[in-house]
Amino acid sequence: MSLIQSLRTLVGDDHVLTGEQASPYLVDWRQRYKGAALCVVRPGSPEEVASVVKLCAESGAPIVPQGGNTGLCGGATPDASGDAVVLVLTRLNSIRAIDLDNDTITVDAGCTLQQVQEAAKAVNRIFPLSLAAEGTCTIGGNLATNAGGTQVLRYGNARDLALGLEVVVASGETWHGLRGLRKDNTGYDLRNLFIGSEGTLGIITGATLKLYPTPAAQRTAVLALESVEHAIRLLGHARAAFSASLTAFEVMSDEGLRKVLACYPQQRLPFDGSSKDAPYFALLELSDSESAEHAQERLETVLGTAIEDGVVLDVVVAESLAQSKAMWHLRESVPLAEAEAGKSIKHDVSVPISLIPQFVQQANEAIAGRFPEMTTIVFGHLGDGNVHYNVCRAAGQSVDELVALTSEVYGIVHGIAAEMGGSISAEHGIGQHKVKELPQYKSAVELDLMARIKKALDPADLLNPGKVLSR
Ligand code: FAD
Repeated sequence: MSLIQSLRTLVGDDHVLTGEQASPYLVDWRQRYKGAALCVVRPGSPEEVASVVKLCAESGAPIVPQGGNTGLCGGATPDASGDAVVLVLTRLNSIRAIDLDNDTITVDAGCTLQQVQEAAKAVNRIFPLSLAAEGTCTIGGNLATNAGGTQVLRYGNARDLALGLEVVVASGETWHGLRGLRKDNTGYDLRNLFIGSEGTLGIITGATLKLYPTPAAQRTAVLALESVEHAIRLLGHARAAFSASLTAFEVMSDEGLRKVLACYPQQRLPFDGSSKDAPYFALLELSDSESAEHAQERLETVLGTAIEDGVVLDVVVAESLAQSKAMWHLRESVPLAEAEAGKSIKHDVSVPISLIPQFVQQANEAIAGRFPEMTTIVFGHLGDGNVHYNVCRAAGQSVDELVALTSEVYGIVHGIAAEMGGSISAEHGIGQHKVKELPQYKSAVELDLMARIKKALDPADLLNPGKVLSR
């Protein structure tokens, strides 16, 4: 029996897709990569995932795991050979268990992030991972990419939120590691090996995740700022004053917000007068364990002092949930508006927080010197040292002309980040997008260790081949 026939017998005809039915799964969210596949298979249980992997291993068919397909590095898109089986996990979408005394939730890997947030909310807890794609991205994808998002400052990234995993390994066997333990020093940390491995070491089918108490009150503020240096000074003030209550600190340059306002005219900046024209804006969120009034008072006192000290030009504190949502919507619309406005060359770098102003200044100077007609957008999770630094297409420049400049622009921006001890991929991963670049920024020892881990766990190179490490 052919592999496709065996897969049909296993999961049912409706869940093995070919031709037109398969095509939405063969292109990435940014539509930068288009691949081909033998078929797309959608198993309905962890056991079926294990059987699919066994069948693929017997036939030597490469497997490309896919969750919500919102990844930004082409990691879930197969190559053009047409040999691969795309293994889509979205039918694994049950909340398996909630343990309130242990503050944990155990879920199938295909649950969307939003589904897990809502399940936590229903029992008066939060699952704090949060990102603009949360309605579509899956927990499996979040863990496979070690997603970051807007709450890392307080709660950490996906890695910090996972206690246990269930993983189907390359042989088709299952590692049942769904432990709800906060302490477990019994040898090598397999969980952390699979987290962030982008589907190249195993297929995550379930996870046990940490829950947190729901904050009594949240307050959001948008601030107008003179420069990135001022944003860093403000971050210092806010950290000192709010400590762990500071749950988010995002920054956006005016260029990005202007794109949002142009694309979505129903959105508006909450400022009047000259503050509207500030070059930078920050979004700050405070989560308080006491009351809304307490949070409001603390925020107003600290931000009032920041204005008096000349750190902040202007501030608007949200007075209702709707206003707070509108502020977050502005921030989350920056990547969406960029996508609508046309292609740009995107970077997802991190540098030590203290060096962010220097990074932005050096990158701006280098780009303006080499490509004076191109503009840049800076936004990101400043509190985590993570800057999305995007170089936008100049007026009259075609997409092909822009694409032709990618490696030169990458070289400039990534080179500056690397010189500062930074990373060329803070939260989006490597996928196929940065696979050729990675060797320039990792030592030979690090690359060799990574290759040996891959070889040990996936000797036939069947799990997401060509992603993270080149073949
Ligand atoms: P996919 O795109 O389907 O897959 C991503 C990678 O994980 C691939 O390599 C795939 O093979 C692998 N994979 C998927 N599921 C599994 C599994 N079950 N087992 C093993 N491997 C698997 N990311 C951030 O970190 N922070 C942000 O703030 C952020 N904002 C975003 C905003 C927008 C508008 C968009 C479109 C994306 C954003 N992302 C962000 C990127 C993306 O949402 C995350 O990378 C997300 O974690 C991917 O989840 P997914 O289910 O869509 O994974």
